[in-house]
Amino acid sequence: MGAGLSGIGAGYRLQTKCPAQSYAILEARPEIGGTWDLFRYPGVRSDSDMFTLGYPFRPWKDAKAIADGPAILKYIRETARECGIDRHIRFRQRVISAAWSSQDARWMLDVQAGENGETVRYTCNFLYGCTGYYRYDAGYQPDFPGAENFRGRFLHPQHWPENLDYSGKRVVVIGSGATAVTLVPAMAETAGHVTMLQRSPSYILSIPAVDRIAGWLRRVLPEGPAHRILRWKNILVSMVLYQLSRRKPQFMRGLFRKIAAGNLPAGYDVDTHFKPKYEPWDQRLCLVPDSDLFKAIRGGRASVATGEIETFTERGIRLRSGEELEADIIISATGLRMVALGGVKLTVDGAAVEPGKTFIYKGVMLGNIPNFAFCVGYTNASWTLRADLSSTFVCRVLNHMKRHGYRVCRPECDPEGLEVKPLLGLNSGYVLRAAADLPKQAGKKPWIMRQNYILDMLTMRLGSLEDGVLKFTRAVAARSAEIREAIPAD
Ligand SMILES: Cc1cc2nc3c(=O)[nH]c(=O)nc-3n(C[C@H](O)[C@H](O)[C@H](O)COP(=O)(O)OP(=O)(O)OC[C@H]3O[C@@H](n4cnc5c(N)ncnc54)[C@H](O)[C@@H]3O)c2cc1C
Repeated sequence: MGAGLSGIGAGYRLQTKCPAQSYAILEARPEIGGTWDLFRYPGVRSDSDMFTLGYPFRPWKDAKAIADGPAILKYIRETARECGIDRHIRFRQRVISAAWSSQDARWMLDVQAGENGETVRYTCNFLYGCTGYYRYDAGYQPDFPGAENFRGRFLHPQHWPENLDYSGKRVVVIGSGATAVTLVPAMAETAGHVTMLQRSPSYILSIPAVDRIAGWLRRVLPEGPAHRILRWKNILVSMVLYQLSRRKPQFMRGLFRKIAAGNLPAGYDVDTHFKPKYEPWDQRLCLVPDSDLFKAIRGGRASVATGEIETFTERGIRLRSGEELEADIIISATGLRMVALGGVKLTVDGAAVEPGKTFIYKGVMLGNIPNFAFCVGYTNASWTLRADLSSTFVCRVLNHMKRHGYRVCRPECDPEGLEVKPLLGLNSGYVLRAAADLPKQAGKKPWIMRQNYILDMLTMRLGSLEDGVLKFTRAVAARSAEIREAIPAD
């Protein structure tokens, strides 16, 4: 399910590692690309480098390591086309529910199909959710008092209007996350002035958009080895940055503050606007390419206001401090609404599955749900690193089943005694709002969702599949046993 970055990667792994399996990708939208097709706001870009956000099997060739949305979309589409994955995609097929039948050892999917949304049914032996992590129909929009009074344009970046003319206009962007720090410098290029209005600051780190080492390595090495070295370089750099942040938070807090101060004009109030209240990596770190946000602030084209909104007014926003921000356009970069498993309702032999009450197995399957996997990326590194490990793991499971004639695999889970921990270890608003509905992890293996690529790689690529938890059965035998049981004894 899903033809975004993960679904296309999954298609590639399936057809190369399990060539005897047939597969179809059901995509709710009429296009490939997911996130990178949906978001159209000015400046939309990755904040991970493309050597790790791109696929390991298809080198990223552009000069820019921090790429813009259209370049990423092109890359995903080209991968799908060149590898023939696009032939497997059925568009406008929104999976509404999936019902597992142990008797038939298969899933029956109810799918809203085509423009009219008629219901069609598919069956499959194994279901893999590459549905991303948030709702596509609506972003998160708090109820701002007085919003109805504002006379200008008020919008959410998830629904960017085509041809919005903001040149010369006064813009307020509410938020301090990845979207806000992307929008502000991009809009500041032509807007009259852009204010980033934040309740509290985030950690912001500037990185070069173009990786110089990449340019050099590509000149001296063939494409494949250069790509592999760059990928590993960036994996290790991000791991070191994360580990340092968690282990030496005070040192990293100081470092981030110093970097911000060095990028801002002399006398700037760094502590009010760029000193977060949380520890580094309690929330995702915001990366900006080539200091673009800081440059916009230095150039006077953008500014930061930190405070709580009292009310929207006819002409803008009034803060609790009394400060008034006049605006022609207000953008609510207030985030996403997370959703578990693409909103698909799962049942197992008629019993509804509540995702929030399940435990994740090796970060890819769900306790007691047969022949089902889903793809979640890292929060502390590029999504694709983990997505690709998940797909590789699914292929290993499928091949193992084929080799041994198994029809069912199911991580056997006794929740009794398992410590309930949130799936994602971030305290960002969008994660906390959804935590109850997302699968859980426990404090011990294999019911954990790691944020560590090297450990995951060892477990998911090399770890034994017959670990005593993942139970494999030959359904035909199970079925005949059931039939035998059902026959009354003489
Ligand atoms: C603006 C933005 C910037 C980001 N930048 C980064 C970054 O720099 N680095 C990083 O690691 N991550 C980033 N992310 C996270 C990003 O979502 C992932 O990197 C990646 O694109 C996720 O790919 P995906 O295919 O798993 O999910 P998505 O891109 O969300 O694609 C999911 C697909 O599944 C389809 N789908 C969902 N439900 C159903 C259903 N029920 N039936 C059928 N189809 C369904 C959707 O229509 C969609 O096409 C960013 C996210 C956003 C919103």
